[in-house]
Parts: sequence; structure tokens; C-alpha cells
Amino acid sequence: MHRLAQLDLRYVWHPFTQMRDWLREEPIVIVSGKGARLWDAHGKEYLDGNSSIWTNLHGHNHGRLNAALIRQLRKIAHSSALGLANEPAALLAAALVQATQPIKPDPSNSHGPLAKVFYSDDGSTALEVALKLAYEYTKRTRGPSSHPRFLSLQGAYHGDTLGAVALGHIPLFRRNWNALVFKTDTVMAPYCYRCPYNRARPERADARAYRQCRWECVDAVAARLQRQQRMRGEPYAAFVVEPIIQGAAGMIPQPEGWLQRVAELVRASNILLIADEVMTGFGRTGLPMQESYTAAQAPLFACQHEAVQPDLLCLAKGLTGGYLPLAATLSTQAIFDAFLGRYEEFKTFFHGHSYTANQLGCATALESLKLLRTNASLQARRRLQQALADSLPALWTIPQVGDIRQVGLIVGVELVRDWTTRQPFDLREQAGIRVCKAMARRGVLTRPIGNVIVLMPPYCTTPRQVRQMIQVLMEACEEVFGPASRGRRKQRAR
Ligand SMILES: *Cc1c(COP(=O)(O)O)cnc(C)c1O
Repeated sequence: MHRLAQLDLRYVWHPFTQMRDWLREEPIVIVSGKGARLWDAHGKEYLDGNSSIWTNLHGHNHGRLNAALIRQLRKIAHSSALGLANEPAALLAAALVQATQPIKPDPSNSHGPLAKVFYSDDGSTALEVALKLAYEYTKRTRGPSSHPRFLSLQGAYHGDTLGAVALGHIPLFRRNWNALVFKTDTVMAPYCYRCPYNRARPERADARAYRQCRWECVDAVAARLQRQQRMRGEPYAAFVVEPIIQGAAGMIPQPEGWLQRVAELVRASNILLIADEVMTGFGRTGLPMQESYTAAQAPLFACQHEAVQPDLLCLAKGLTGGYLPLAATLSTQAIFDAFLGRYEEFKTFFHGHSYTANQLGCATALESLKLLRTNASLQARRRLQQALADSLPALWTIPQVGDIRQVGLIVGVELVRDWTTRQPFDLREQAGIRVCKAMARRGVLTRPIGNVIVLMPPYCTTPRQVRQMIQVLMEACEEVFGPASRGRRKQRAR
């Protein structure tokens, strides 16, 4: 066993990991990377199938990102944002506000565009900031008798700090701290593959075997909003949503039009809209293939696809291109203004972290944003999106593949015990974990979400590398479940 692996086993406690299982085998110790490839301490090569848990954008060890980071390092690594401004943080804030403006106007939004950037360190902290801002804003605008309450989606994941846990609705990630976190409400999220109404997806409304979608999941949100108003005499403070696709819930896309409809309901009820684009931001949700954008205009955020302008926008993961922990919570001018006052009114937002607006992170993020605006990056993203769309149908030959979901550069493959009934595997069988382990042995690294295999490669991944990932996934399934059926199963209309 490699010396580094021994040290890890001896001293490191890993996140979201059953350490008893971890301690049973030699861990993969990553020592270097280039583009979509990673190398371990033994020199074995891997493809980074999930962009290092959804953070990396342009590839590892990127020439321009390295150079930007080193340029900043030669000036200064960090000075405090408490009482001091700094160069890359100011430049990045301007660039983020500009990049997040709506591409088409949002007719339902009266709060104005995003105007201010509050920095923090991780997705979770970006959500904490949004929560605290929304809470105080609501108290200040509705008066001291207001009881701000939050609504988020079934299966929502917004991070692991306690405020973020309160917003989350994945039982496994919440139940141990249920008594510790504040109460939030939850409402049905669209999950077309397991639609309780057994409807066709709205975009496949012609599918004869299924009844036409009537947006029952939107009605559920409307009913929830009304009930809150009726029962508690005031609307929610904010609706928190992962727009376009819910990540940790299992890569579950919302049907086209859902976000816009829900945003209108939220607006009509005078509620803040908090968009958690920690996973979806920075081009991850891809480009509408039929529309042609220049690199400068292409949408980079999920909300922009549906012309929805949130009041608070949370960014992290891809913000630095996957280099450094940095997060941002963007807010409207209206929210910012609610915190203005004479000093002795103490309307100050009393929140901050030691490394808030860290220069190394901000400088790298700024360069990453510039890269996203290059033609080369736009072409790479289009090529990757197309390569995924072309390669994925081969997976339908695997009997355990129940659903294949692609949103731009994000893919979730849901494994099921029986595809005819959609019966899921019991989590204790570790179907997803076993498949990912078999993939790792074949040189592709990713991490499952329960029974969903995630493919979310860096934007520089070539079509050949995509085909390799799909091939490896197929071989891994054969290893775990036995040989695939020969006849090609057709994707059922849903
Ligand atoms: C990962 C994630 C978070 C939490 O971000 P961390 O950086 O891990 O704290 C929050 N929201 C979404 C949608 C995420 O995918």
C-alpha cells in the first residue's frame, strides 16, 4: 500500500463516508491532474467523471487559471474584507453582477436585477447568507410581528451547515439534527420519471400511453403558498429552489416552464425567490441547441434559461473553476437598502468570515469567468453537450437503467431493480456505490447519489473521453449486475 494511503487511513476522516468501509481497502490518492484526467500515487490514470464533485469547469491544471492564480499570489494571498476592499474582489463583483443579468426580461419581477455581491466560502455559507438576509429583510419590511418562514422543495439539498440543513429535505442528511434545526416547509418537486400522476412530460405530451401533464406540481406550489397565507396570516419569507435541476436529490430536472410558472406564483405572493445555483451555475446547464448565442451573450446560469430573476442568488462550486473554495450571494438593491441606516440603528448585516473575499479565490474566479466568455469555451461546451447526447442512448441496453436524464452538461443515470415497474434498488444493496467502484477500477471516477450515477465531466472533456466514460459505465454495470440484454431496448415515452 502506498505510504500516503496509509497516512490517510490512519489520520483522515472523510466527508459523507462510512469510514468502516473506507478503512477496508487502499484509497485512491490523487497526486496530479491535467484537463479531464487525474493521476493517483501509483501513476494510474483516471477520467474525472464528476468534475471533482461538480466543482471543476475548464479542466485541471489549466494554464490560464494557473497563471492568474500565480499573478495574484505574487501580489498578495489574502487581506481581510472586514474594513478593507481588494482588487480582484471588486473586479469579480462587477463581473458577477453583469453575468447574472437576465438575458430576457423577467416580467414577473418587480424587485429589480441583482446588484450586490456578498462573498463567503462554500455553497453552504452562501445559503446561510441568503437565509439571514431574507429573514432580516422580511422582518424589516413586514414589521416586528412577522414570523419569516421558508419553503423549499422535496429532495432539496442546500448544504451541510445547520441553516442549510434546515432548508434541505433529504431525510438521511437531516434526520439526525431534526431537533436542532429550525422548521421549514416543503412542497412537491417535479420528478417526471416517478410522477405520481403518471403524466407524460410536458414536452412529450404526445406520448399516448401517458396522460397529458397538467402541471399538478405547479398547482401543489400554489396550494402551499395559499395555505401558508391562510393559516399564518402572512406569506412565506422566501422560496428556495435549485433552478432547472435538483442536484443531490438525484439529478432531477424540472420540466421546461416549471421554474417560470413557480417564479410567477412566488412573485404574486410577495415572497423572495432564492436561487441556489451552487451546482447549476457557470454554464453547467448547457445551451439550447437550437438557438445560436455568441460567447458573450450565452446564458451561464439556470435562471437565465427561463428568464427568471431571483432576489438572492447563491454561487459556489464552479465559481473558481474548481480551484479554491469561494462563494457569493448576490442580492437585489432592494434587499441591500433594507440594511442601510444610521450606525446606531444597528441595521448592519452582522455576518462575515475570516477569508471573505479572499484574493486568490477572487482572482481565479475572475479568470474563470473570462474563460467562459471565450469562443473556445463555448465550442467546448456545445461539443460536450452534443457528445453526451450522442453517447447516452447506448445505455438503454442495460436492463438496470431506468432513466437517463441530461440537462446540458449534467447527466444522471437512475439504476432500478426492474425497469418495467421502475422499482428502485434498496439503498442497502449499494447498487450505485458498487457500479462506481467498478468504474474506478476501469479508470473513471464519479460518485453516485443513491442509485443515480452522475456524469458531469469538465468542459474540456473530448467526445472520445465521453464515449470512454459511457463504455466504462456499461462494463461496470455488466460486472455488477450480469450481462446486458442484446436487443436494444427503446426509451419509453414518458
Ligand atoms: C454542493 C451544493 C451546496 C453546498 O455547497 P458546499 O460548497 O458543499 O457547502 C449547496 N447547494 C447545492 C445545490 C449544491 O449542489
